[in-house]
Amino acid sequence: MSFESFVLDARIHAGIQSASYTAPTPIQQQAIPPILSGRDLIGIAQTGTGKTAAFMLPILQRLTVHPGRGVRALILAPTRELAEQIHQATRQFGSCTPVRSVAIYGGVSKKRQVEALRRGANIVVACPGRLLDLAGERSINLSQVEVLVLDEADRMCDMGFLPDIRRIIKLLPMRRQTMFFSATMPDDIRKLADSILHDPITVQVGVEAPPKTISHALYPIDGGRKKQLLLAMLKQRATGRALIFTRTKYRARSLAGDLSKKGYRVSALQGNMTQNRRQNAIDGFRTGRYDILVATDVASRGIDVADIGHVINYDMPDTADAYTHRVGRTGRVDQAGEALTFALPQDEGMVLRIERVLGNTLERRRLEGFNYGTFNPEARPKSNGNGKAPSNDNHRRLRNADRKPGNAGRRPGTTRRKLQAAGQRRSGR
Ligand code: AMP
Repeated sequence: MSFESFVLDARIHAGIQSASYTAPTPIQQQAIPPILSGRDLIGIAQTGTGKTAAFMLPILQRLTVHPGRGVRALILAPTRELAEQIHQATRQFGSCTPVRSVAIYGGVSKKRQVEALRRGANIVVACPGRLLDLAGERSINLSQVEVLVLDEADRMCDMGFLPDIRRIIKLLPMRRQTMFFSATMPDDIRKLADSILHDPITVQVGVEAPPKTISHALYPIDGGRKKQLLLAMLKQRATGRALIFTRTKYRARSLAGDLSKKGYRVSALQGNMTQNRRQNAIDGFRTGRYDILVATDVASRGIDVADIGHVINYDMPDTADAYTHRVGRTGRVDQAGEALTFALPQDEGMVLRIERVLGNTLERRRLEGFNYGTFNPEARPKSNGNGKAPSNDNHRRLRNADRKPGNAGRRPGTTRRKLQAAGQRRSGR
């Protein structure tokens, strides 16, 4: 299939060419025709699948073919980085059209955003807080909006934006086309979608599983030796551009500081940094000023940097979805990438959940030449206090991993699926 099979204005085809896209991705193939026909849509897709073009090309088609004044399309995104990325993609796809876009988010001066609105931006890509701020000051009029897109809806709800989203929707005309993109569809997100969409079509792409182009490996380690393992790993292998994830903002800042002292060209990317410093970090990473970015999950949303060779999970993510999002930063659309995950013995439950999503066991590796002390990375984590010898036997590993407090005495031979379901219930997923 080619982009030519979509009925799009020649100026939009020119924009697609300028982005060097040759063939539509699966989400683009499935979503563009119904959006062009005016349908509401639920897109279950993660970042990295090409969903931005899936919703933006039909929006540009509508606004180019039927020109008009005012803000006619509103895209809501959870983070400034994602809003900026969507805005930049829109500029590129729409570069040969008269349609103009503006990104609206907090942490920077309002002046330029208000000026861009006055100059007649038709597409607004916004984070909810600053948008409500401008709406309250009457710097933006949302009464002409014909198309609403909620991007990364699950993350917006996680970040507590649901009341803001409801407030914004009250400012929009009832008659409009609405699109709703989310990587996951838990009950509260489904309810939100049901309440704001009219007879939507659902398209679903690669639910929760990361792109197939990524290879995954686990590096078992004990807590006290993580930093040495990372330093040894960076020294041993040419990682190219690497994105390292930590659990907290503090750990991101501190690890970036330590790597910098060792001579690495590195920046942190975490939510306590000002917008300018965050953008500076992403730009520096993109242009090659930094080889390494140490990021938290939330701050990393919207990083759109090509050629990230490696994602290193220095700290285990909290959920399998977060794993998918993190590793999706490498191996984007048909590129190979490597996801390397440090695992403490207590991370075993999460490892099982990730393996379930991947449909595969994670390869466990030892870093050759690294001094593990008394720790044996090949050993499966011992269950809590059961005193059994570590074993490489997969079946026994699953049994051991499940035999945690409250799960004592599980019968041998319990199927893997049941064990994993029990693991999920325990973790409240
Ligand atoms: P998204 O999921 O929209 O954030 O897109 C992820 C990445 O894939 C971005 O770097 C896009 O530029 C790229 N991309 C999206 N669609 C295509 C396509 N049809 N061909 C090549 N690259 C694409």
